[in-house]
Amino acid sequence: MSGAARIPARGVAADEVLAELAAMKSADTDWKGGRVFSLVYHAGDDHTRLLERAHALFASTNLLNPMAFQSLRRMEAEVTQMAAGLMHGPDTAVGAMTSGGTESILVAVAAYRDRARRKRPWIRHPEIVAPRTIHPAFDKAAHYFGVRIRKVDVDDDQRVDVRAFARAIGARTIAVAASAPQYPHGVVDPIEEVGALATQHGLPMHVDACVGGFLLPWVERLGRPVPRWDFRVPAVTSISADLHKYAYAGKGASMLLWRSMDDMRHQFFVATDFPGGIYASPTMIGTRPGGPVAAAWAAMRALGEDGYLRLTGAGCEAADRLRAGIAAIPGLTVIGPSVAAIAAWGAAPGGPDVFAVADRLEARGWSIDRMQHPTAVHLTCTANHLAIVDDYLADLRAAVDEVVANPNLARSGSAPMYGMMAKVPVRGLVKQSVAKVLEAMYAPGVIVPDVSASASDGVVGKVLDKYGPQLDAVLERVDRVRARVRRARRLRRWR
Ligand SMILES: *Cc1c(COP(=O)(O)O)cnc(C)c1O
Repeated sequence: MSGAARIPARGVAADEVLAELAAMKSADTDWKGGRVFSLVYHAGDDHTRLLERAHALFASTNLLNPMAFQSLRRMEAEVTQMAAGLMHGPDTAVGAMTSGGTESILVAVAAYRDRARRKRPWIRHPEIVAPRTIHPAFDKAAHYFGVRIRKVDVDDDQRVDVRAFARAIGARTIAVAASAPQYPHGVVDPIEEVGALATQHGLPMHVDACVGGFLLPWVERLGRPVPRWDFRVPAVTSISADLHKYAYAGKGASMLLWRSMDDMRHQFFVATDFPGGIYASPTMIGTRPGGPVAAAWAAMRALGEDGYLRLTGAGCEAADRLRAGIAAIPGLTVIGPSVAAIAAWGAAPGGPDVFAVADRLEARGWSIDRMQHPTAVHLTCTANHLAIVDDYLADLRAAVDEVVANPNLARSGSAPMYGMMAKVPVRGLVKQSVAKVLEAMYAPGVIVPDVSASASDGVVGKVLDKYGPQLDAVLERVDRVRARVRRARRLRRWR
């Protein structure tokens, strides 16, 4: 423990503290350069300065007591009302701001569970039916709140299979959910068709528009085809939408919108017996930081419709050009009919090992979001990425050439680890291995962990060490067995 950080015995001068912070920040990933996708949504330096100033003005404020901070309550109301208008909410639409998409989804799942407890108390093991591509925040909510997420498979376009969805709805179903769009490939689920199922079964429906809520409305206004997904679909009772993504707010801002107070009231929590006073809270957290609320409000006011249309047009153009360039590279394929600024690519049949190409791209300074089922790479584009399109495509072509010339690259670097993590059929082993990485990251005294070393500590790492050379053969056999099981299942259903 001797290396562990301590509170300095004497306070450090503010200038020095700020210099320390600046030094640490300079080692972080350079998201302004456009070589990072999906983590930061950058709308230019002037806009970032506005967010920082708005945030700073309210950095110490707390929306836990909206009567003490009426300014924050007003901003929260205006932000949710502006969003509800954008998403065609009826006059009855209501909502609240949260700290992020995950919190919005946690609150929604908890509210649907409580709504079912009140209206259908005989359901002991509540289930929410959702596509396989729904965000893991739903699994987290299920884990916390004792609700099961029943996953439905998707078709080759990555859209949820509506017939399979219909079969998954049963006596335990308390709500349905789908994404507009789903994060991995930017594909919008068939919201109207799933909504028709919800209506037919008298179920409420959540649309996860965390990434799309402040993207799709502008895409539609730009005249591109967008399938209906918002409150215009009558079955939709709630929508989660992240302000800290395509609304270009500061981090820590999302919202949960409801069609009416009849739907929303299940999310409120009141504790009546606390000696500290009656405690009422609309969302998951207690203290609600005012900074993100003010920054989100400032972002919407400052950008306006013209700003959002301009940024959306540029982000879509970046994605279009990337998609076209990727489709023209032999051995690669663009995955899913994405309508907007999100793209994903994988290997065409006989194409190169995607994770090996990803390693080669990373060596060229790109931050890579690796995906699985199918193996692919994710690209969330903003206007900030227009400038890097040609560089990315050139580096991608070079990376593919390298891997085609030397297929052994699939067996070096991080490619085998990711390949195996994606393919190991016993997912509990993968879970255990990744949990080991978290343990290493949060081990006592650790400041900057060696993640790659801890990864090889886990079962997956050990298996990799032992069977590395024969791994392809082993995984191929696993694939064959899984395909046989799937065929047998289909046959059984057909009978
Ligand atoms: C980002 C995202 C979330 C989760 O949001 P966080 O802000 O990361 O908690 C949920 N759903 C979708 C579709 C997303 O893109």
